[in-house]
Amino acid sequence: MFTLPELPYDYAALEPHVDVQTMQIHHDKHHAAYVEKLNAALAQHPELLEMNVESLLRDIETLPADIKTAVRNHGGGHANHSLFWLIMSPEGGDSTLSGSTLASIQETFGSLEELKATFKDTALSLFGSGWTWLVKTPEGLKIVTTANQDSPLMQGATPILGLDVWEHAYYLKHQNKRADYIDSWWNVVNWSYVEKLYSA
Ligand code: MN
Repeated sequence: MFTLPELPYDYAALEPHVDVQTMQIHHDKHHAAYVEKLNAALAQHPELLEMNVESLLRDIETLPADIKTAVRNHGGGHANHSLFWLIMSPEGGDSTLSGSTLASIQETFGSLEELKATFKDTALSLFGSGWTWLVKTPEGLKIVTTANQDSPLMQGATPILGLDVWEHAYYLKHQNKRADYIDSWWNVVNWSYVEKLYSA
């Protein structure tokens, strides 16, 4: 069985950058629903309920046809949100970026500011619901987007930073102003955790 992970901080901890009501609904309703639907979809495949969700997504092409869509949507939703909570922190922000991630960002994008600018353009131009990611690939760091709840793991890339650009992630506070949401979000990005994922 898959379970909803607890947030590593209070619902209000990311205020004013991410508001408390959004955090409550996002975690307790949206993420919880992905977990519930994933468990329901895999009920007939108990061996898969024991696997970790990242492995299911990486190997999605090998799964039985009747559950591929459920793993893609709800398994992706579970994995993406589980990562999202961890790459944010009330102690986040630019000062937490260091080590090999910083070196690699400078090498790939020139500077953190340039990474942020490209990331923002990419997130703003994503039509509809989806995610913008910083991923680790055999060729180095890349910024990519996925539609809906698709995971970069399905494409052989390892997500180390992800921004949820579904309206449910920002509409209560920012309404249609996705750019404001992105600008504000950098203040809570937990680069120490990103570094951990990068170095893994
Ligand atoms: Mn979401």
